[in-house]
Amino acid sequence: MNIVVCVKQIPDPADPGELDPNTKTLKRDVKLILDESDSYGVEMALQLVDTAGGGEVTLVSMAPNNEVGGIRTALAMGAAKAVLVSDEALVGTDALGTAKVLAKAIERAGDADLVVTATESSDGYTGTVPEQVAELLGLPSITFAKSIEVDGATVKVQRQTEAGYDDVEAPTPAVISVTAGVVEPRYPSFKGIMAAKSKPVDEVTVADLGLDADAVGWAGARQEITEIATAEAREAGTIIEDEGEGYAQIVDFLADLKVI
Ligand SMILES: Cc1cc2nc3c(=O)[nH]c(=O)nc-3n(C[C@H](O)[C@H](O)[C@H](O)COP(=O)(O)OP(=O)(O)OC[C@H]3O[C@@H](n4cnc5c(N)ncnc54)[C@H](O)[C@@H]3O)c2cc1C
Repeated sequence: MNIVVCVKQIPDPADPGELDPNTKTLKRDVKLILDESDSYGVEMALQLVDTAGGGEVTLVSMAPNNEVGGIRTALAMGAAKAVLVSDEALVGTDALGTAKVLAKAIERAGDADLVVTATESSDGYTGTVPEQVAELLGLPSITFAKSIEVDGATVKVQRQTEAGYDDVEAPTPAVISVTAGVVEPRYPSFKGIMAAKSKPVDEVTVADLGLDADAVGWAGARQEITEIATAEAREAGTIIEDEGEGYAQIVDFLADLKVI
């Protein structure tokens, strides 16, 4: 089974850098890492290929400055190869433009039985790219997967809901977005890290994908960030010292919030 996993490379959330005051977008000319949200999709795909007993995982990423830091992490986990789209023309690309680029890169990666993404990225957070990619490729889309099983030409997904999960099926190939935290992403081994250095990364431009430069970047963007503001600092919580009656104060607190 061949699976393509979309992996976004993002500024390290522990040190995300800054926003550009003019474009109101994140400055991306810093070291980028594998979005933790996508490590679940990589792990899920590796497990599915193991279960199938054959095939490989191919990564697809769009990132500036030919960044491969996050891709190498996913290759070290066990993915076989990657397609990286990097081009000055991509600066300012919005979610739909990103989906157009990823859809073309997925086609370039070869015939896939499944395309796996995260439900939402940790930086942009729109949660729209997977469904846009599915629409552009003309494939079924299943979102919020907590488990995936492939049975012949059918993919069976437990789709997380507020109340539990729904069993959903679709014919393959399909685009599946995976919910964070549903599997334990493996740590790359030393052998994996060394092997990742020589795994192939196909670095391509917008023109290589046959896309018009006007369809991406600022020229093609229909999304605009109109305002940015500093998030309110969290207020310090209330500390209840338990001297035998602490439970009563907690009950009163929850009753005030009308949650009990
Ligand atoms: C005004 C504006 C300017 C922007 N400027 C730039 C820029 O200069 N440079 C730039 O690189 N991006 C730029 N972006 C793109 C942005 O960072 C996102 O990649 C894009 O909007 C997708 O949205 P998201 O991250 O919210 O995706 P979501 O829909 O939340 O992502 C869901 C999943 O889709 C996949 N995915 C999403 N994006 C990528 C990706 N890039 N590569 C691989 N998989 C992906 C991942 O699996 C991800 O977890 C800009 C966006 C806007 C709105």
